[in-house]
Amino acid sequence: MKVGFISLGCAKNQVNCEQMIWQTYEAGHEVALGPDGCDTVVVNTCGFLQEARDEALEEINKLVAMKKAGQLERIIVSGCMAQWWKDRMADLCPEVDGFLGVSGYEDIPQVLEQAAAGERPFHYGDIDAPVPETDRVVCTSDYWAWLRIAEGCDNRCAYCVIPFIRGRFRSRPEEKILEEAENLAQAGMKELIVVAQDITRYGLDLYGERTLAKLLPKLCAIPGIQWVRLHYLYPDEITDELIDVIAREPKIVKYLDIPIQHISDRMLKAMHRRGTGEEIRSLFRKLREKIPGVVLRTSLITGFPGETEEEFEELCEFLLEYKLERAGVFAFSPEEGSVAAKMPDQVDEDVKRRRLELLTDLQMRIVDQYCESKVGQVIPVLCEGYDDETELFYGRSDADSPGIDGVVHFEGEEGGVRPGDFYQVKVTGTYDGELIGVLYENEEGSKQ
Ligand code: SF4
Repeated sequence: MKVGFISLGCAKNQVNCEQMIWQTYEAGHEVALGPDGCDTVVVNTCGFLQEARDEALEEINKLVAMKKAGQLERIIVSGCMAQWWKDRMADLCPEVDGFLGVSGYEDIPQVLEQAAAGERPFHYGDIDAPVPETDRVVCTSDYWAWLRIAEGCDNRCAYCVIPFIRGRFRSRPEEKILEEAENLAQAGMKELIVVAQDITRYGLDLYGERTLAKLLPKLCAIPGIQWVRLHYLYPDEITDELIDVIAREPKIVKYLDIPIQHISDRMLKAMHRRGTGEEIRSLFRKLREKIPGVVLRTSLITGFPGETEEEFEELCEFLLEYKLERAGVFAFSPEEGSVAAKMPDQVDEDVKRRRLELLTDLQMRIVDQYCESKVGQVIPVLCEGYDDETELFYGRSDADSPGIDGVVHFEGEEGGVRPGDFYQVKVTGTYDGELIGVLYENEEGSKQ
Protein backbone atom coordinates (compact mmCIF):
# COMPACT_ATOMS: atom_id res chain seq x y z
CA MET A 1 0.00 0.00 0.00
CA LYS A 2 1.25 3.53 -0.70
CA VAL A 3 0.04 5.90 2.01
CA GLY A 4 0.11 9.69 1.67
CA PHE A 5 -0.02 11.96 4.73
CA ILE A 6 -1.40 15.47 5.07
CA SER A 7 -0.84 17.25 8.38
CA LEU A 8 -2.92 20.28 9.31
CA GLY A 9 -2.72 22.50 12.37
CA CYS A 10 -0.07 22.91 15.00
CA ALA A 11 3.34 21.51 15.87
CA LYS A 12 1.88 18.90 18.20
CA ASN A 13 -0.23 17.54 15.35
CA GLN A 14 2.79 17.55 13.08
CA VAL A 15 4.70 15.37 15.57
CA ASN A 16 1.78 12.93 15.73
CA CYS A 17 1.77 12.78 11.94
CA GLU A 18 5.52 12.13 11.86
CA GLN A 19 4.98 9.25 14.30
CA MET A 20 2.23 7.79 12.11
CA ILE A 21 4.52 8.01 9.08
CA TRP A 22 7.18 6.03 10.93
CA GLN A 23 4.70 3.36 12.03
CA THR A 24 3.23 3.05 8.56
CA TYR A 25 6.71 2.66 7.11
CA GLU A 26 7.65 0.10 9.77
CA ALA A 27 4.50 -1.85 8.91
CA GLY A 28 5.93 -2.31 5.43
CA HIS A 29 4.02 0.32 3.46
CA GLU A 30 5.36 2.96 1.14
CA VAL A 31 4.85 6.48 2.52
CA ALA A 32 4.59 9.92 0.91
CA LEU A 33 3.70 13.50 1.76
CA GLY A 34 0.47 14.51 0.02
CA PRO A 35 -2.00 12.44 -1.95
CA ASP A 36 -0.35 12.16 -5.38
CA GLY A 37 0.12 8.59 -6.55
CA CYS A 38 -1.15 7.09 -3.27
CA ASP A 39 -3.91 4.54 -2.81
CA THR A 40 -4.64 5.65 0.76
CA VAL A 41 -4.44 9.15 2.23
CA VAL A 42 -4.40 10.03 5.95
CA VAL A 43 -5.47 13.58 6.84
CA ASN A 44 -4.34 14.57 10.32
CA THR A 45 -6.80 17.32 11.24
CA CYS A 46 -6.88 20.27 13.63
CA GLY A 47 -10.07 20.88 15.60
CA PHE A 48 -9.18 23.84 17.76
CA LEU A 49 -11.25 26.46 15.92
CA GLN A 50 -14.11 26.33 13.44
CA GLU A 51 -11.76 27.89 10.89
CA ALA A 52 -9.39 24.92 11.27
CA ARG A 53 -12.26 22.44 10.99
CA ASP A 54 -13.46 24.19 7.81
CA GLU A 55 -9.96 23.84 6.38
CA ALA A 56 -9.95 20.15 7.27
CA LEU A 57 -13.35 19.59 5.66
CA GLU A 58 -12.17 21.36 2.54
CA GLU A 59 -9.13 19.07 2.40
CA ILE A 60 -11.32 16.00 2.91
CA ASN A 61 -13.68 17.14 0.14
CA LYS A 62 -10.76 17.47 -2.27
CA LEU A 63 -9.74 13.90 -1.44
CA VAL A 64 -13.32 12.68 -1.86
CA ALA A 65 -13.32 14.20 -5.35
CA MET A 66 -10.05 12.34 -6.09
CA LYS A 67 -11.55 9.13 -4.76
CA LYS A 68 -14.61 9.54 -6.97
CA ALA A 69 -12.32 10.19 -9.95
CA GLY A 70 -10.50 6.91 -9.22
CA GLN A 71 -7.26 8.66 -8.23
CA LEU A 72 -7.17 7.09 -4.77
CA GLU A 73 -8.95 4.30 -2.95
CA ARG A 74 -9.23 5.16 0.70
CA ILE A 75 -9.32 8.18 3.01
CA ILE A 76 -8.50 8.04 6.73
CA VAL A 77 -9.19 11.03 8.99
CA SER A 78 -7.19 11.36 12.22
CA GLY A 79 -6.38 14.03 14.78
CA CYS A 80 -8.21 16.71 16.72
CA MET A 81 -11.28 17.16 14.53
CA ALA A 82 -11.79 13.39 14.33
CA GLN A 83 -11.58 13.36 18.14
CA TRP A 84 -13.71 16.42 18.91
CA TRP A 85 -16.44 15.57 16.43
CA LYS A 86 -16.24 11.84 16.86
CA ASP A 87 -20.03 11.49 17.12
CA ARG A 88 -20.69 13.29 13.87
CA MET A 89 -17.73 12.56 11.60
CA ALA A 90 -19.15 9.28 10.28
CA ASP A 91 -22.28 11.01 8.97
CA LEU A 92 -20.55 14.20 7.97
CA CYS A 93 -17.99 12.40 5.82
CA PRO A 94 -19.68 9.23 4.46
CA GLU A 95 -16.89 8.63 1.93
CA VAL A 96 -14.20 8.47 4.63
CA ASP A 97 -12.99 4.91 5.24
CA GLY A 98 -11.65 5.11 8.78
CA PHE A 99 -11.18 7.40 11.79
CA LEU A 100 -8.46 7.72 14.39
CA GLY A 101 -8.67 9.94 17.50
CA VAL A 102 -5.75 11.68 19.19
CA SER A 103 -5.06 8.73 21.48
CA GLY A 104 -4.47 5.78 19.28
CA TYR A 105 -2.13 7.19 16.64
CA GLU A 106 -0.08 4.04 17.15
CA ASP A 107 -3.07 2.06 15.82
CA ILE A 108 -2.49 3.44 12.32
CA PRO A 109 -1.16 0.16 10.81
CA GLN A 110 -4.27 -1.64 12.07
CA VAL A 111 -6.59 1.10 10.80
CA LEU A 112 -4.96 0.90 7.36
CA GLU A 113 -5.38 -2.89 7.24
CA GLN A 114 -8.99 -2.73 8.39
CA ALA A 115 -9.84 -0.04 5.86
CA ALA A 116 -8.16 -2.04 3.08
CA ALA A 117 -10.26 -5.05 4.11
CA GLY A 118 -13.42 -3.02 3.58
CA GLU A 119 -14.20 -2.39 7.26
CA ARG A 120 -14.77 1.16 8.48
CA PRO A 121 -12.58 1.35 11.60
CA PHE A 122 -13.08 3.86 14.42
CA HIS A 123 -10.14 3.97 16.84
CA TYR A 124 -10.56 6.23 19.85
CA GLY A 125 -8.35 5.55 22.85
CA ASP A 126 -8.19 7.25 26.26
CA ILE A 127 -7.23 10.90 25.77
CA ASP A 128 -5.64 10.93 29.25
CA ALA A 129 -3.40 7.91 28.61
CA PRO A 130 0.40 8.39 28.88
CA VAL A 131 2.00 9.85 25.75
CA PRO A 132 3.03 6.93 23.54
CA GLU A 133 6.78 6.81 22.88
CA THR A 134 7.24 5.96 19.24
CA ASP A 135 9.84 6.88 16.66
CA ARG A 136 9.05 9.45 13.98
CA VAL A 137 10.14 10.61 10.55
CA VAL A 138 10.85 14.33 10.81
CA CYS A 139 9.24 16.08 7.85
CA THR A 140 9.75 19.74 8.73
CA SER A 141 13.34 20.12 7.61
CA ASP A 142 16.77 18.50 7.77
CA TYR A 143 18.06 20.94 10.36
CA TRP A 144 15.27 21.84 12.76
CA ALA A 145 12.60 19.75 14.46
CA TRP A 146 9.85 20.07 17.03
CA LEU A 147 10.60 18.41 20.33
CA ARG A 148 7.33 17.70 22.12
CA ILE A 149 7.85 17.39 25.87
CA ALA A 150 4.27 16.96 27.05
CA GLU A 151 0.73 16.44 25.83
CA GLY A 152 -2.63 17.87 26.90
CA CYS A 153 -3.38 20.79 29.20
CA ASP A 154 -4.52 21.25 32.81
CA ASN A 155 -5.38 24.91 32.40
CA ARG A 156 -9.00 25.66 31.78
CA CYS A 157 -9.09 28.85 29.75
CA ALA A 158 -12.74 29.65 29.13
CA TYR A 159 -12.41 30.01 25.34
CA CYS A 160 -10.40 26.85 24.73
CA VAL A 161 -11.45 23.27 24.04
CA ILE A 162 -7.96 21.78 23.78
CA PRO A 163 -8.06 20.08 27.22
CA PHE A 164 -11.25 18.27 26.13
CA ILE A 165 -9.62 17.14 22.89
CA ARG A 166 -6.08 16.42 24.00
CA GLY A 167 -6.70 15.41 27.61
CA ARG A 168 -4.94 16.22 30.86
CA PHE A 169 -1.36 17.49 30.94
CA ARG A 170 1.05 14.54 30.72
CA SER A 171 4.82 15.06 30.64
CA ARG A 172 7.04 12.71 28.71
CA PRO A 173 9.78 11.13 30.85
CA GLU A 174 12.94 13.20 30.75
CA GLU A 175 15.11 10.28 29.59
CA LYS A 176 12.83 9.72 26.59
CA ILE A 177 13.00 13.39 25.61
CA LEU A 178 16.79 13.42 25.88
CA GLU A 179 17.08 10.19 23.92
CA GLU A 180 14.94 11.66 21.15
CA ALA A 181 16.89 14.94 21.19
CA GLU A 182 20.19 13.04 20.87
CA ASN A 183 18.83 11.05 17.93
CA LEU A 184 17.67 14.27 16.29
CA ALA A 185 21.09 15.87 16.80
CA GLN A 186 22.78 12.82 15.32
CA ALA A 187 20.47 13.09 12.33
CA GLY A 188 21.83 16.61 11.77
CA MET A 189 19.21 18.78 13.51
CA LYS A 190 20.69 22.06 14.70
CA GLU A 191 17.60 23.68 16.16
CA LEU A 192 15.16 21.99 18.53
CA ILE A 193 11.88 23.71 19.20
CA VAL A 194 10.60 22.63 22.60
CA VAL A 195 6.84 22.53 22.45
CA ALA A 196 3.76 21.63 24.48
CA GLN A 197 0.50 23.38 25.30
CA ASP A 198 2.21 24.68 28.45
CA ILE A 199 5.92 23.84 28.74
CA THR A 200 6.28 25.66 32.06
CA ARG A 201 4.26 22.90 33.74
CA TYR A 202 6.67 20.23 32.53
CA GLY A 203 7.48 17.62 35.17
CA LEU A 204 4.74 18.49 37.67
CA ASP A 205 2.69 15.37 36.95
CA LEU A 206 5.67 12.99 36.72
CA TYR A 207 8.14 14.36 39.25
CA GLY A 208 5.96 16.41 41.60
CA GLU A 209 7.72 19.65 40.63
CA ARG A 210 8.24 21.85 37.56
CA THR A 211 11.49 20.68 35.99
CA LEU A 212 11.80 22.61 32.72
CA ALA A 213 14.72 24.58 34.20
CA LYS A 214 16.53 21.27 34.80
CA LEU A 215 15.68 19.78 31.41
CA LEU A 216 16.89 22.71 29.30
CA PRO A 217 20.61 22.63 30.24
CA LYS A 218 20.64 18.89 29.43
CA LEU A 219 19.21 19.63 25.98
CA CYS A 220 21.78 22.38 25.47
CA ALA A 221 24.60 19.99 26.37
CA ILE A 222 23.82 17.73 23.38
CA PRO A 223 26.57 18.12 20.78
CA GLY A 224 25.34 19.46 17.45
CA ILE A 225 22.35 21.33 18.86
CA GLN A 226 22.95 25.05 18.41
CA TRP A 227 19.55 26.60 19.07
CA VAL A 228 16.88 25.60 21.57
CA ARG A 229 13.64 27.54 21.15
CA LEU A 230 10.75 27.58 23.62
CA HIS A 231 7.09 27.64 22.72
CA TYR A 232 4.20 28.34 25.04
CA LEU A 233 5.15 29.45 28.50
CA TYR A 234 2.30 30.24 30.88
CA PRO A 235 3.13 33.62 32.44
CA ASP A 236 2.56 32.81 36.11
CA GLU A 237 4.75 29.70 35.94
CA ILE A 238 7.91 31.44 34.73
CA THR A 239 10.13 31.19 37.78
CA ASP A 240 13.32 33.10 38.53
CA GLU A 241 15.21 29.81 38.21
CA LEU A 242 13.85 29.36 34.68
CA ILE A 243 14.68 32.97 33.73
CA ASP A 244 18.26 32.48 34.98
CA VAL A 245 18.67 29.31 32.91
CA ILE A 246 17.34 31.03 29.79
CA ALA A 247 19.61 34.04 30.36
CA ARG A 248 22.66 31.89 31.08
CA GLU A 249 22.44 29.20 28.38
CA PRO A 250 23.83 30.60 25.12
CA LYS A 251 22.06 27.92 23.07
CA ILE A 252 18.59 28.93 24.29
CA VAL A 253 17.46 31.54 21.80
CA LYS A 254 16.37 34.74 23.47
CA TYR A 255 12.87 34.45 22.11
CA LEU A 256 10.02 33.53 24.40
CA ASP A 257 6.47 32.73 23.38
CA ILE A 258 4.24 33.66 26.31
CA PRO A 259 0.56 33.74 25.35
CA ILE A 260 -1.25 36.24 27.62
CA GLN A 261 -4.52 36.77 25.65
CA HIS A 262 -5.38 40.06 27.41
CA ILE A 263 -4.08 42.54 29.93
CA SER A 264 -7.26 43.77 31.64
CA ASP A 265 -7.79 42.13 35.04
CA ARG A 266 -11.49 41.71 34.45
CA MET A 267 -10.94 40.10 31.03
CA LEU A 268 -8.21 37.78 32.35
CA LYS A 269 -10.57 36.65 35.11
CA ALA A 270 -13.43 36.14 32.68
CA MET A 271 -11.10 34.09 30.47
CA HIS A 272 -10.24 31.94 33.52
CA ARG A 273 -6.59 32.92 33.14
CA ARG A 274 -4.44 33.01 36.25
CA GLY A 275 -2.65 36.21 37.27
CA THR A 276 -3.36 39.90 36.86
CA GLY A 277 -2.39 42.50 34.29
CA GLU A 278 0.12 43.97 36.73
CA GLU A 279 1.75 40.57 37.24
CA ILE A 280 2.12 40.19 33.46
CA ARG A 281 3.60 43.68 33.14
CA SER A 282 6.01 42.99 35.94
CA LEU A 283 7.06 39.66 34.36
CA PHE A 284 7.76 41.34 31.02
CA ARG A 285 9.78 44.08 32.70
CA LYS A 286 11.80 41.44 34.54
CA LEU A 287 12.41 39.46 31.33
CA ARG A 288 13.63 42.58 29.51
CA GLU A 289 15.96 43.36 32.39
CA LYS A 290 17.36 39.85 32.97
CA ILE A 291 17.57 38.73 29.34
CA PRO A 292 18.96 41.63 27.32
CA GLY A 293 17.68 41.70 23.74
CA VAL A 294 14.93 39.16 24.42
CA VAL A 295 12.26 38.95 21.73
CA LEU A 296 8.83 38.46 23.24
CA ARG A 297 5.95 36.79 21.43
CA THR A 298 2.40 36.54 22.68
CA SER A 299 -1.11 35.85 21.47
CA LEU A 300 -4.05 38.16 22.10
CA ILE A 301 -7.81 37.81 21.81
CA THR A 302 -10.04 40.76 20.95
CA GLY A 303 -13.79 40.82 21.42
CA PHE A 304 -13.99 38.30 24.27
CA PRO A 305 -17.53 38.35 25.78
CA GLY A 306 -18.05 41.53 27.77
CA GLU A 307 -14.89 43.29 26.51
CA THR A 308 -15.54 47.03 26.74
CA GLU A 309 -13.95 49.80 24.67
CA GLU A 310 -11.92 50.80 27.76
CA GLU A 311 -10.60 47.28 28.21
CA PHE A 312 -9.71 47.08 24.54
CA GLU A 313 -7.90 50.42 24.81
CA GLU A 314 -6.02 49.14 27.83
CA LEU A 315 -4.79 46.25 25.67
CA CYS A 316 -3.69 48.66 22.91
CA GLU A 317 -1.88 50.88 25.41
CA PHE A 318 -0.15 47.86 26.89
CA LEU A 319 1.06 46.78 23.47
CA LEU A 320 2.27 50.30 22.67
CA GLU A 321 4.14 50.57 25.92
CA TYR A 322 5.67 47.08 26.08
CA LYS A 323 6.32 46.80 22.34
CA LEU A 324 6.18 43.01 22.10
CA GLU A 325 8.13 42.17 18.97
CA ARG A 326 5.82 39.35 17.97
CA ALA A 327 2.08 38.91 18.54
CA GLY A 328 -0.60 36.71 17.05
CA VAL A 329 -3.90 38.61 17.25
CA PHE A 330 -7.22 36.77 17.02
CA ALA A 331 -10.87 37.76 17.16
CA PHE A 332 -12.72 35.74 19.80
CA SER A 333 -14.41 32.71 18.30
CA PRO A 334 -17.17 31.10 20.41
CA GLU A 335 -16.13 27.46 20.23
CA GLU A 336 -18.92 25.00 20.79
CA GLY A 337 -18.23 23.18 24.06
CA SER A 338 -16.22 26.02 25.60
CA VAL A 339 -17.41 27.96 28.64
CA ALA A 340 -16.99 31.28 26.84
CA ALA A 341 -19.35 30.32 24.02
CA LYS A 342 -22.25 30.39 26.49
CA MET A 343 -21.25 33.62 28.21
CA PRO A 344 -23.59 36.62 28.04
CA ASP A 345 -22.52 39.91 26.42
CA GLN A 346 -21.07 38.39 23.27
CA VAL A 347 -19.41 41.17 21.28
CA ASP A 348 -20.83 42.02 17.83
CA GLU A 349 -18.88 40.57 14.93
CA ASP A 350 -18.24 43.98 13.37
CA VAL A 351 -16.88 45.34 16.67
CA LYS A 352 -14.63 42.28 17.00
CA ARG A 353 -13.38 42.76 13.45
CA ARG A 354 -12.68 46.46 13.98
CA ARG A 355 -10.74 45.76 17.17
CA LEU A 356 -8.82 43.00 15.44
CA GLU A 357 -7.84 45.35 12.60
CA LEU A 358 -6.79 48.10 15.02
CA LEU A 359 -4.68 45.76 17.10
CA THR A 360 -3.15 44.16 14.00
CA ASP A 361 -2.20 47.62 12.60
CA LEU A 362 -0.69 48.56 15.91
CA GLN A 363 1.33 45.36 16.03
CA MET A 364 2.57 45.89 12.47
CA ARG A 365 3.91 49.29 13.48
CA ILE A 366 5.73 47.72 16.43
CA VAL A 367 7.22 45.04 14.15
CA ASP A 368 8.36 47.74 11.70
CA GLN A 369 10.04 49.67 14.52
CA TYR A 370 11.72 46.49 15.72
CA CYS A 371 12.98 45.72 12.20
CA GLU A 372 14.32 49.27 11.82
CA SER A 373 16.22 48.86 15.09
CA LYS A 374 18.06 45.87 13.62
CA VAL A 375 19.43 47.76 10.59
CA GLY A 376 23.24 47.90 10.79
CA GLN A 377 23.48 44.92 13.15
CA VAL A 378 25.18 41.62 12.31
CA ILE A 379 22.96 38.70 13.25
CA PRO A 380 23.23 34.91 12.98
CA VAL A 381 20.85 33.40 10.43
CA LEU A 382 20.04 29.74 9.84
CA CYS A 383 19.84 29.53 6.05
CA GLU A 384 16.73 27.78 4.75
CA GLY A 385 16.98 28.18 1.00
CA TYR A 386 17.22 30.36 -2.08
CA ASP A 387 14.29 32.29 -3.54
CA ASP A 388 14.37 32.41 -7.35
CA GLU A 389 11.94 35.32 -7.39
CA THR A 390 13.91 37.69 -5.15
CA GLU A 391 17.23 36.08 -6.16
CA LEU A 392 18.17 36.13 -2.49
CA PHE A 393 18.88 33.49 0.11
CA TYR A 394 16.55 33.40 3.09
CA GLY A 395 16.75 32.06 6.59
CA ARG A 396 15.64 32.61 10.14
CA SER A 397 17.30 34.67 12.86
CA ASP A 398 16.83 33.83 16.52
CA ALA A 399 13.83 36.20 16.46
CA ASP A 400 12.00 34.09 13.88
CA SER A 401 10.18 30.89 14.66
CA PRO A 402 9.21 28.77 11.64
CA GLY A 403 5.80 29.32 10.13
CA ILE A 404 4.72 32.18 12.37
CA ASP A 405 7.42 34.83 11.99
CA GLY A 406 9.14 36.23 8.94
CA VAL A 407 12.51 35.42 7.41
CA VAL A 408 15.71 37.30 6.73
CA HIS A 409 16.52 37.74 3.01
CA PHE A 410 20.19 38.04 2.23
CA GLU A 411 22.64 38.24 -0.62
CA GLY A 412 25.28 35.59 -0.91
CA GLU A 413 27.24 33.79 -3.56
CA GLU A 414 25.57 30.79 -5.11
CA GLY A 415 27.43 27.68 -4.09
CA GLY A 416 28.93 29.52 -1.12
CA VAL A 417 25.78 29.45 0.99
CA ARG A 418 24.00 26.23 1.97
CA PRO A 419 20.60 25.62 3.57
CA GLY A 420 21.03 24.21 7.05
CA ASP A 421 24.15 26.25 7.84
CA PHE A 422 24.40 29.31 10.05
CA TYR A 423 25.72 32.59 8.60
CA GLN A 424 26.46 36.03 9.92
CA VAL A 425 24.27 38.52 8.07
CA LYS A 426 24.56 42.28 8.21
CA VAL A 427 21.10 43.84 8.16
CA THR A 428 20.92 46.57 5.52
CA GLY A 429 17.18 47.26 5.33
CA THR A 430 13.66 46.09 5.98
CA TYR A 431 10.75 45.12 3.79
CA ASP A 432 7.19 44.47 4.90
CA GLY A 433 8.09 43.41 8.44
CA GLU A 434 11.10 41.33 7.40
CA LEU A 435 14.84 41.99 7.31
CA ILE A 436 17.12 42.28 4.30
CA GLY A 437 20.88 41.90 4.52
CA VAL A 438 24.16 40.79 3.08
CA LEU A 439 26.51 38.04 4.09
CA TYR A 440 28.90 39.54 6.59
CA GLU A 441 32.51 38.67 6.01
CA ASN A 442 35.08 39.08 8.73
CA GLU A 443 38.52 37.58 9.16
CA GLU A 444 36.96 34.30 10.36
CA GLY A 445 34.56 34.12 7.42
CA SER A 446 30.82 34.54 7.59
CA LYS A 447 29.81 31.21 9.02
CA GLN A 448 28.86 31.09 12.64
S1 SF4 B 1 -3.27 27.10 28.35
FE1 SF4 B 1 -5.38 27.70 27.96
S2 SF4 B 1 -5.38 28.27 25.79
FE2 SF4 B 1 -3.55 27.03 26.13
S3 SF4 B 1 -4.17 24.94 25.63
FE3 SF4 B 1 -4.42 25.19 27.84
S4 SF4 B 1 -6.57 25.78 28.08
FE4 SF4 B 1 -6.04 26.10 25.92
